[in-house]
Amino acid sequence: MSRFLSPRLDTVTPYTPGEQPQDQQYIKLNTNESPYPPSPAVLEAVSRAEVEKLRLYSDPACAELLNAAAKHFGLQPDQIMSGNGSDENLFFALRAFCDEEHPLAYADITYGCYGVWCGLMHIPSRIIPLREDFTLDPTDYYGLNTTIVLANPNAPTGLALPRSAIEGILKANPDHVVIVDEAYVDFGGESCVPLIDRYENLLVVQTFSKSRQLAGARLGLAMGNAKLIADLNRVKFSLNPYNINRLTLKAGQAALEDTAYFDSTRAVIVETRSWTRQQLEARGFTVLDSRSNFLFVRTARQDGGTLYRKLKENGVLVRHFDTPRIHSWLRITIGTPAQMQALLAALDKILED
Ligand SMILES: *Cc1c(COP(=O)(O)O)cnc(C)c1O
Repeated sequence: MSRFLSPRLDTVTPYTPGEQPQDQQYIKLNTNESPYPPSPAVLEAVSRAEVEKLRLYSDPACAELLNAAAKHFGLQPDQIMSGNGSDENLFFALRAFCDEEHPLAYADITYGCYGVWCGLMHIPSRIIPLREDFTLDPTDYYGLNTTIVLANPNAPTGLALPRSAIEGILKANPDHVVIVDEAYVDFGGESCVPLIDRYENLLVVQTFSKSRQLAGARLGLAMGNAKLIADLNRVKFSLNPYNINRLTLKAGQAALEDTAYFDSTRAVIVETRSWTRQQLEARGFTVLDSRSNFLFVRTARQDGGTLYRKLKENGVLVRHFDTPRIHSWLRITIGTPAQMQALLAALDKILED
């Protein structure tokens, strides 16, 4: 760091993203991207004509995309906003609802960015441990008296809570916002979107990165009652009014409208997930009951860090978190069936040695 850095940033620990090697030499199962390309409709939408329009700013209101999203989710356009990835919407929400005196509560094992943003914005963290088996006890969140963020399904465990459990948390915290991060909901979770009209404190955040093949386009949606969305827009228009670029607006709308492609690709992922789980269990792995596009696994035969490294040497990238409680585990993204076969072949080779 330079001698010019604000002392307030001294203590910030930035997020470490999964590796993004810029060549194709790895089977990449480390950042929960889709192994399938975007819908053909996306390729059509990002047309030459649209590229030529890049000299003009994008629509700061994102009106066409939000209208399409409203139709898709059965909401009003003013109940939705788009972010540059769901990361940006989550950041807007923390900026809007938390500060030095208003903490954020979240699980000890969950998406790492929540803690990073708390550090950046000097928001006190209220960390609530998951149970021994990594399930979440909803009553731990009752009457907390703070803003809450829950990833559901959770990452990196893949475990999901039923909608009714989240409803209990919403009811038990009527004066605080409960943010439900549904990055993986399309792979078998129960969405809280149907609760939006009943709970003014509910904010649901979804992303196009995992189930709509657009991780590189950077697009997410936040959904909640119109007043909460207005609060997020207050932050957005104070920071970056043109936060979504033109090509992403078009790509996102096309991806949202191609529901057949969305449904078929997520169905294949779910099927590949259950096949892979069986295969891993047959090899003695412990595999959590994932409702997401990854599996969280461990084996008594080798520790997580070593297995991660050996898989990488064999051309397969997975994610290992060198953090308390989960250092013996690996998070493995569901790829194509052929990629999962290659993973299993690599594991067989490594565990035989
Ligand atoms: C991937 C992920 C995000 C970030 O998604 P982007 O839309 O790519 O910013 C947020 N939350 C969780 C739990 C995720 O896994």
